[in-house]
Amino acid sequence: MRYTVALTGGIGSGKTTIANAFADRGIDLVDADVIARQVVAPGQPALAAIESRFGQEVIVDGSLDRKALRQRIFTSAEDKAWLNALLHPLIQAETRRQLAQTHSVWCLWVVPLLVENNLQHLANRVLVVDVDRETQLRRTAARDGISREQAEHILAAQATREQRLAVADDIIDNGGSPDSVAARVAQLDQYYRQLAGATHQD
Ligand code: ADP
Repeated sequence: MRYTVALTGGIGSGKTTIANAFADRGIDLVDADVIARQVVAPGQPALAAIESRFGQEVIVDGSLDRKALRQRIFTSAEDKAWLNALLHPLIQAETRRQLAQTHSVWCLWVVPLLVENNLQHLANRVLVVDVDRETQLRRTAARDGISREQAEHILAAQATREQRLAVADDIIDNGGSPDSVAARVAQLDQYYRQLAGATHQD
């Protein structure tokens, strides 16, 4: 399989910004959030299975009402387990398929919930985007037009900075200016090209 680097980080840490910087250097991206939506898109068997279990209340205009579904599984551990058993194999299969279709020397798999879903073993390497909590709260609130309290609430539901750093092979400190990050992105790209090349020759 293509040499795969998983990129993770908390909300507002800069995953999207950094992923785009790698893409600008010719690295193919696979996005876990996109895949999570694709497997439950209209016409997909998983959506039909969800509809038959939860009924019309989780469907809006033929599409999944993710918020309604979240509320349902929030109140039932059994429903949550059922949904995970349905979706995890589909998401994993689709992830493998998309990773296999990439063409760049190495590819970047952007996975916001890598640590929460314990997916680090699926990648060759884990790259964590790291910022301090204050910066993360400030950037998230500014980007999403939400209050600091709302941003704190989202952070509280995610893995902690320490939990992410514990699984990191490499770290991008995104607390500084975009320029300083660009240099680090270039350095890591070179490094991953070497690692991917070495693996390829094995
Ligand atoms: P994520 O995808 O991890 O949620 P984003 O890449 O969307 O995070 O970044 C969150 C916000 O912070 C965005 O508005 C982005 O433009 C901004 N941002 C990202 N990196 C930097 C940086 N180094 N300096 C200043 N602002 C940044």
